Amino acid sequence: MTFAIHGLPVARGIAIGRAVLMAGRVDVAHYFITPDQIEAEIARVRAGRDAVVDEIHRLQQTITGMGPKEAPHELSALLDVHLMLLQDQDLIAGVKHWISERLYNAEWALTTQLEALSRQFDEMEDEYLRERKADLEQVAERILRYMKGVATPAAPPPARRPAGRQQDLALEGTVDVPLVLIAHDLSPADMLQFKQSVFAGFVTDVGGKTSHTAIVARSMDIPAVVGARSASQLVRQDDWVIIDGDAGVMIVDPSPIILAEYQFKQRQAELERGRLGRLRHTPAVTLDGERIELLANIELPDDAAAALAAGAVGVGLFRSEFLFMGRQGKLPDEEEQYQAYRRAVEGMQGLPVTIRTIDVGADKPLDDSRRDDAHLNPALGLRAIRWSLADPAMFLTQLRAILRAAAHGKVNMLIPMLAHVSEIRHTLSLIDFARAELDNRGQVYGPIDIGAMIEIPAAAIMARTFLQYFDFLSVGTNDLIQYTLAIDRADESVAHLYDPAHPAVLRLLADTIAACREQGKPVSVCGEMAGDVDFTRLLLGMGLRSFSMHPAQLLAVKQEVLHADTARLSPWAQEVIASDEPAKRLA
Ligand code: PEP
Ligand code: MG
Repeated sequence: MTFAIHGLPVARGIAIGRAVLMAGRVDVAHYFITPDQIEAEIARVRAGRDAVVDEIHRLQQTITGMGPKEAPHELSALLDVHLMLLQDQDLIAGVKHWISERLYNAEWALTTQLEALSRQFDEMEDEYLRERKADLEQVAERILRYMKGVATPAAPPPARRPAGRQQDLALEGTVDVPLVLIAHDLSPADMLQFKQSVFAGFVTDVGGKTSHTAIVARSMDIPAVVGARSASQLVRQDDWVIIDGDAGVMIVDPSPIILAEYQFKQRQAELERGRLGRLRHTPAVTLDGERIELLANIELPDDAAAALAAGAVGVGLFRSEFLFMGRQGKLPDEEEQYQAYRRAVEGMQGLPVTIRTIDVGADKPLDDSRRDDAHLNPALGLRAIRWSLADPAMFLTQLRAILRAAAHGKVNMLIPMLAHVSEIRHTLSLIDFARAELDNRGQVYGPIDIGAMIEIPAAAIMARTFLQYFDFLSVGTNDLIQYTLAIDRADESVAHLYDPAHPAVLRLLADTIAACREQGKPVSVCGEMAGDVDFTRLLLGMGLRSFSMHPAQLLAVKQEVLHADTARLSPWAQEVIASDEPAKRLA
């Protein structure tokens, strides 16, 4: 039966494919194997299973002969249950099915089958049996842990599917069907893993439009919906689904008529992409001759290629924190960071790269084990520059690495979430200190411009003061909106109040741009507003001449720029900003 689940649209486009549900764990590899690897993959799971069976047998032998104090009866009963589950035919047959019919790698096949069986356990009447789900998860975890320690014969990822935009259902039943990921939640670090993965789209139960998970989805340029509440409960493994990333809807088990309609939409979107592609080499100049700088936001050094491919004239925001994520607490050292920044700089082939110093905390934990659940308001807590200043050794390591990378091309350094002049002074003195350390070591480094992000209302109000210290400003509208309106950007339950067109937000933004223009200093917007074509004309009318966004959004924004006349937009923008209901005037 066809039904729709509504959420928030975060990354445009249509994906049609089969649902892959994540059973709470996403940290396993997901890649396709080739048919000649099927036997080896099945053997890997079997070896993992056998090793765990042996381990349990050994444990059983050890506890036989122990007294009830050291080895209570429950422990032995638990081991029996684990043995039984390990030998369960549904587990084994299911895993084989996913490997041989779908060409999933062994870990992916195991977690997929685990998810399917978990649901069966959830539906059981008998409470005792229902509770065995936890045992099943432990058993699968043990097999995965064993497999992790054993070399993987198939090197991931052999094939990135021609994802999403895409085949038709004539392919049903074959392995060449696009897959879409459905999960309760995905952290930004999880998303990073999926950058190289096989998924044509994704849907999560939680999350806001400018949560970092959504931001990474946009950078992957695959259709995505977040905040879809109970999607992961309502969809079953392998269901056919359509993700409409423009409308923020997922359609489950679509009827042939609905499917045909979406396939048509998909083709239209493809044509539109093709049309936009022709603008790649066109200079971004408005009708009245204003040259507009269109820059790219990137998460990893290798994203530089996508930035160049989209025709970006530089990187306006390199979110360096993604280098630090998912590493189980082991942070990259100076050399590793230097090499990464250098790769981004060289990847941009002489174009400028703005590296933002680490911005972790709130909805960007370094890894899941470090999620900040302990503090009531992590978004107001030790985040971004506050985190860096609290750990000067870590911060100096990053500063030295950025300064050294600046020897290889034009680098700007951007400092996130500043609010206080004392923080500015402290930061600048640490940058000087990092230079002095490099001088002492006799190590080469390059000149940099230093900019501040305007993300907190206090900073926007003090823009003129900030400009006494900085070479440029960059407005992070995602946080500026969050902190101006007191709306958690990652919380879907208040997403309807997260309003970029709120008069207070627009006035802070306009005033920051005006302050920079008065003083002749560069100003850019690098929040999601910069890549949203609904705001391009307004921002141009406010006097903005530099926009930084995901490469996938760049050509659509360029198209708006080419049709804009800033001389005419300026008085209109003033009216919009002065209005109590700007959204109406924008429509
Ligand atoms: C912003 O806040 O607008 C921004 C660009 O930074 P981030 O989204 O990484 O917080
Ligand atoms: Mg921010």
